[in-house]
Amino acid sequence: MKKTDTQKGNNNGKVAAKSTAADGLKELFVDELKDIIYAERALLKSLPKMAKNASEPKLISAIEQHVQVTEGQVQRLEKIFEILGESNRGKKCDAMEGLIKEGESIMEETEVGPVRDAGIISASQKIEHYEIASYGTLAAFAKTLGEDEIVSLLEATLAEEKEADVLLTDSAYNSINFEASEEDQE
Ligand code: FE
Ligand code: FE
Ligand code: FE
Ligand code: ZN
Repeated sequence: MKKTDTQKGNNNGKVAAKSTAADGLKELFVDELKDIIYAERALLKSLPKMAKNASEPKLISAIEQHVQVTEGQVQRLEKIFEILGESNRGKKCDAMEGLIKEGESIMEETEVGPVRDAGIISASQKIEHYEIASYGTLAAFAKTLGEDEIVSLLEATLAEEKEADVLLTDSAYNSINFEASEEDQE
């Protein structure tokens, strides 16, 4: 029998918790760390493709530089799992999978050159903002939990994500968007 909303709605629209659901901030913190390490590892696999599709040398080097930065971020996360005595196995991050897919479709929808570069920057900034939000929250959780060493590790990564975002914004505003808009006239 197909259940109606009211039949399902014993708990007023609240999603039923899985048996493995977090019952405290510490557990939620570890879950979200597993999410972000998955996200960083997924990003590491997709950045080389973005670099290959970019044309502006400055953008290419910004992406290549971010590969190295991201490797360091994964190492920091591995250190955090070590401190917590937890396994560093990731848990699928649906958001990063979606953001990466969106980046791939932007590439299909743009000609190689300044227009694709502008698209790659657009997709990358969405990724950076997701990371900024994630690390901001994780650092706040770690502070509440009194995990000071972990707070410093997370804040170091947060600063790098913000820097990457500024770098992307600068390359977009200083040249790439203008070059892309010139393609409109041709
Ligand atoms: Fe990152
Ligand atoms: Fe996620
Ligand atoms: Fe979207
Ligand atoms: Zn990043």
